Amino acid sequence: MPTYPLPKNAFKSQETSLLTELECSGCGKIYSDKEIHTFCPDCQSPLLAQYDLPGARSRVDRDAIRRRPDGMWRWHELLPVRDPENFVFLGEGDTTLLPVPSLGTQLGLPNLYVKDESSNPTGTFKARGLAAAVSKAKELGVNKVIIPTAGNAGGAMAAYAARAGIQALIYMPKDTPRANIEESKMAGAEVVLVDGIISDAAGMAGVKAREEGWFDLSTFKEPYRVEGKKIMGYELAEAFNWSLPDVIIYPTGGGTGLVGMWKAFNELEAMGWLADTKRPRMVSVQAEGCAPVVKAFESGALFCDFWTNAHTLASGLRVPKSFADELILKDLRASNGIAIAVSDAAIQACQHKLCRMEGIFPAPEGAATLAALEKLVEQKWIDPEERIILFNTGSGLKYLDQLD
Ligand SMILES: *Cc1c(COP(=O)(O)O)cnc(C)c1O
Ligand SMILES: [Zn+2]
Repeated sequence: MPTYPLPKNAFKSQETSLLTELECSGCGKIYSDKEIHTFCPDCQSPLLAQYDLPGARSRVDRDAIRRRPDGMWRWHELLPVRDPENFVFLGEGDTTLLPVPSLGTQLGLPNLYVKDESSNPTGTFKARGLAAAVSKAKELGVNKVIIPTAGNAGGAMAAYAARAGIQALIYMPKDTPRANIEESKMAGAEVVLVDGIISDAAGMAGVKAREEGWFDLSTFKEPYRVEGKKIMGYELAEAFNWSLPDVIIYPTGGGTGLVGMWKAFNELEAMGWLADTKRPRMVSVQAEGCAPVVKAFESGALFCDFWTNAHTLASGLRVPKSFADELILKDLRASNGIAIAVSDAAIQACQHKLCRMEGIFPAPEGAATLAALEKLVEQKWIDPEERIILFNTGSGLKYLDQLD
């Protein structure tokens, strides 16, 4: 079975990536992807990769992409890495879209699916983002990367950095799930355990990065993690034969998945690959103990306030303020979506329910999407015939210490 990296002659020259430039999501200023950039120094907003979409429209065949070997890199024209030699591949992407008929029957939803991201390397969808970011860092000649993390991003970065031969330094809260600490060390990363949460870790990693020249892979503080995550949107479009589902329920921490999928839908539309103009309503799920997006969404605010005393067992959702808060809120509203908070008790009950009824042992963040769905059904926000996607963003096996 062929796998990545494919031999060079598998690619037509110059057509590996159709990346053209980086654009500031705040002020629109343009930056070159040939240099190392982080975020916009003028307005402190995330930079987003731009592609030659008219070129893709005429030259890239969406059905040819389906015939390539499985994995995220089969979408290489729409990913930011130019030389296939730099694709750092561990098997990420092409996760299973599972119908969940028992659960669907119980909820009265015949078209309910789980996109199960737990089959990614390192057991979560963080692999997608870090695959793209580490590959691009490698292409730009970066040889040491640093990250503050709630856990899974650190584990993923450690694995991809190991594969790429890049040095890795990780700052994570000292109460991060043990699996994240061990997987990072196992891959040779240096791990610093921080007395605090991800925002405290981010402060310390930021200082270290500036002092010692580490490249910072914090969520949205570099342009490429979101590019890996957006491929979830491409996979969904393909799975539904180039139309899109009606509702996507997604657990939101830093927001890369949500912003990434919405970016994918914009790109798909610009390339003329979608059968119709119907877009999914995006649902952002957070924990009651840390719900900055929900609070801002409900109050009509354009930005999130920093959430003090953030606490939840869904460690990936323990993000008091995302660097991309403005983008998250904008995309949620553009989709006619909603933000919703669920309790840790509901998350745990849904972990059991998903596993008992469907055999999927979800991460607490993934279980949170089911807890949100139950609320939305009760509120009649969902029409029974709609096609609904729950994102299980990771494997429950990474959180065993919480079951004690
Ligand atoms: C990081 C993480 C999230 C939050 O993802 P974002 O795309 O950053 O909002 C959700 N679930 C799991 C398992 C995570 O590791
Ligand atoms: Zn800017």
